[in-house]
Amino acid sequence: MFQMLRDREPRTRADLAAATGQARSTIAARIDLLMAAGLIVPAGEATSTGGRPPATFAFNPAAKAVLAVDLGATHARIALTDLAGQILAEADAPLAIAEGPDAVLGWVAEQGDALLASSGWGHDRLAGVGVGLPGPVEHSTGHPIMPPIMPAWDHVDAPGILRRHFDAPVLVDNDVNVMALGEHRTAWPNVSDLLFVKVATGIGSGIVADGTLTRGAQGAAGDIGHIAVMGAEEVPCRCGNFGCLEAIASGQAVADKLRAEGLDAHRGSDVIHLVRSGNLAASAAVRQAGRDIGIVLAACVSMLNPSLIVIGGVLADAGEHLIAGIREVVYRRSLPLATQHLRIVTSETGGKAGVLGASAMVVDHVLSPEAIDAIAGAV
Ligand SMILES: [Zn+2]
Repeated sequence: MFQMLRDREPRTRADLAAATGQARSTIAARIDLLMAAGLIVPAGEATSTGGRPPATFAFNPAAKAVLAVDLGATHARIALTDLAGQILAEADAPLAIAEGPDAVLGWVAEQGDALLASSGWGHDRLAGVGVGLPGPVEHSTGHPIMPPIMPAWDHVDAPGILRRHFDAPVLVDNDVNVMALGEHRTAWPNVSDLLFVKVATGIGSGIVADGTLTRGAQGAAGDIGHIAVMGAEEVPCRCGNFGCLEAIASGQAVADKLRAEGLDAHRGSDVIHLVRSGNLAASAAVRQAGRDIGIVLAACVSMLNPSLIVIGGVLADAGEHLIAGIREVVYRRSLPLATQHLRIVTSETGGKAGVLGASAMVVDHVLSPEAIDAIAGAV
């Protein structure tokens, strides 16, 4: 009953009884319990078919708040959302994940408290905290495991540290999984098979299959940045291997390549700046990065048969150059059946995919049928 109401449409007790097949008395009792918890509110009266018009009820997304945190390699963003994923307040800052858990989680605690305070709320208003981290995260524990760009975070109990501060459930996942969830929920809710690819300081992907985020056995599914690419065997990668996709096609790799050619490029955002100012070498390098990414994505298309590939991350801001390189290779290298209806597009949520996904991850958890049964299942 509650999951039906999450679409925000007001319904009468009779609507809900008819749709769920439950007795009117059961529905009435559940509504009372969920109203007491603040999750459902009266929403006026339905049109009368004669006699007194029946009362309607609707989901109340303002019942609780969520802190949604997107931690990238060099940038952090935090948002306060309601239970419908609406952003109420947000903050962001340049912050290197390599500064370590004390500094970074300290920033999250401080900014989270400030966002709550700006809305006049305390920790008691929090339904939970969702965090995306730029490295492999073990799904069962939320612990980062041997993350290449954040060595000080290995096996750190990030969920435990934040739970002690905020006194609320904390969910931690890989940043690209979280972005895939945010992009899927916000921009493509009706697409059931989607691959989200982040091309930034590193490269990674999040897989939505059959409408569900797919993490694999340990949570490492979609880590395409460290797949070996032919012809790049000499190029060292920060993971310790050679020839990884990330080592030749990430925003950092493209910046390094252009700097070696004498251009002023130190990171992905510098590459974008060069492309926008009409630098042909930068455009060509981004297009080549697209082709290299396309080789790995063609293999992913063969494995997963997505109907949509969404490209996000800073290098996606290079206009059509990156996408054109990717399309060029994916459409040539994949079988016709797999590419017949395949679209390859740039992210619609842009920089907000991470916080939107972190919010959705928490909301799914705290409003799951099991969680709602714990509130109103006694009936
Ligand atoms: Zn690697």
